[in-house]
Amino acid sequence: MELLPRHFCHDDRRLLQAWRRVARAAGMRLSELPKSKGSNAQPIIWLESSAVNPGVAVRYLSAGVHGDEPAAAWGLLGWAEQHVERLRHQPIILFPCLNPEGLRANNRLDVRGQDLNRCFHQARHPVCSRWRRVLADRRLSLAICLHEDYDAQGCYVYELQRRADAHWGAALLAQAATQDLPVDPRREIDGMRAQKGVIQRHRVPTHLPGLPEAIVLHQLGCEVSLTFETPSEFSLDHRVAAQARFIEAAMQRQDEEESA
Ligand SMILES: [Zn+2]
Repeated sequence: MELLPRHFCHDDRRLLQAWRRVARAAGMRLSELPKSKGSNAQPIIWLESSAVNPGVAVRYLSAGVHGDEPAAAWGLLGWAEQHVERLRHQPIILFPCLNPEGLRANNRLDVRGQDLNRCFHQARHPVCSRWRRVLADRRLSLAICLHEDYDAQGCYVYELQRRADAHWGAALLAQAATQDLPVDPRREIDGMRAQKGVIQRHRVPTHLPGLPEAIVLHQLGCEVSLTFETPSEFSLDHRVAAQARFIEAAMQRQDEEESA
C-alpha cells in the first residue's frame, strides 16, 4: 500500500475523490446523505455494490465516526483500492467517513459537538436516522466498524457475536498485527475484560449513555459485529496497513463461513 503523506490524513476532499474513483472502478452506486446546514466539509457518502439485492445478506463496513482517528478512514480506502473485485462481486455496503467535519477538524466529535458513536439509537438524529433508513430491512451478515484509540498499546477488537460458538477475534488480530503494531496486551480495555486484544460479548451491555454503531447493527440482526481499534500513538502508516489487513482477514473469514 502507498504511504499516506501526513498532511493528507485530514483531507476529507481528497478522501472523497478517492472513493469516487473506487466506486467507478468497482461499479458501485455512490449516494450522499443530505449535508448538515452550513457545513464546509464534504458530504457523507455511502457505497453499495451491484451484488446487493433484496434478501441477500450484506457485509457492512464503516469508518470516520470519530474525526481524530484517521487511520481507520484511510485503511478502509486502502483495503478497497486493493480489493476492487470483492466490491464488484460481493454484497457490500460501506460508509467511508461518517463524520467528515470531524475528520477535517481532527476532532472526535461531530459538527454538533456530539460523539456520534453514542447517537446511533436516536430516531431523530440528522445522520443516524438517515443511516438507519439505508440499513432498514437489510439482512446483515458481517459488520466491521473501524476506530482508533489513544490509550491503546496495540490493536484490539470488540466482538459482538450472535452465535455463542463463534470466536473470530484472536485469529483476525493475528493476521492484522505485526511486530511494529502488536496486539494490545492490556487485561482490561475501556473497563471491559480483554484477553489478548479481544473483548467478546454475546449480549448488549445495558449501562451505556447512548448506543454505538456496532451495538445498533447487532440489534438490527447483524450476525457478527466487529469494532477494530488501532493505537493512535503508533506510526500512521502501520496503523493504516493494520486496518486494511484486519478488514481483509474478516472478509476471508466470512468467505469461509459462507462456503461451509
Ligand atoms: Zn473511535
